[in-house]
Amino acid sequence: MTDDRTYGAEFFRDWLIAAAAAVDREADRLTELDSAIGDADHGANLKRGFAAVTAVLEKEPPATPGAVLVAAGRQLISTVGGASGPLYGTLLRRTGKALGEAERVSRPELAGALAGAVAAVAQLGGAQPGDKTMLDALAPAAEALGTSFAAAREAAEAGALATVPLRARKGRASYLGERSVGHQDPGATSSALLFAALAEVAG
Ligand code: ADP
Ligand code: MG
Repeated sequence: MTDDRTYGAEFFRDWLIAAAAAVDREADRLTELDSAIGDADHGANLKRGFAAVTAVLEKEPPATPGAVLVAAGRQLISTVGGASGPLYGTLLRRTGKALGEAERVSRPELAGALAGAVAAVAQLGGAQPGDKTMLDALAPAAEALGTSFAAAREAAEAGALATVPLRARKGRASYLGERSVGHQDPGATSSALLFAALAEVAG
């Protein structure tokens, strides 16, 4: 079966606003996870960042998918205090830049743009999948998005769950060494929320 659907600026705005709602709903859980292996601010960090994203997208909705993502990425970089702000900001900005000026994009085009952005996040943070970071959810999700939105959601969720037995090699959790084992990574968990929101708006 061929899938020739394309997605415009409104879809991307709906995605990020749905992601903001999910982050808001799950903020306490994200902070709880970060209190086990970090500094207990991941929920608050992302809640603040995504509230700023929602505000800017509702006030002045950009006209193309790329512009929506670049504007959202910029908000995250400037409003999220923690390590996750520049990383998520880079993810969205790089995806947006790769989409260029296109009025509408297909799912495979989005998957390609996201894969490049995930590589940029890996480079910025010096991390790889397996290091117990957001990349453990982002990398498999971007790849699975080549198949479907639902596959991407499932891959992100599985990737987040798979961080539990890992030992953290990057970020604050790495300071704990072996004691990071047995806890789910907060950033991988929030990444799964982003892909769940994407699958939700895609229907
Ligand atoms: P901080 O660690 O500064 O308090 P947050 O609590 O907002 O920032 O985010 C923590 C999350 O960021 C971690 O759970 C992890 O997924 C992600 N993270 C931290 N450092 C890196 C890195 N170098 N590369 C990729 N992801 C990282
Ligand atoms: Mg933290």
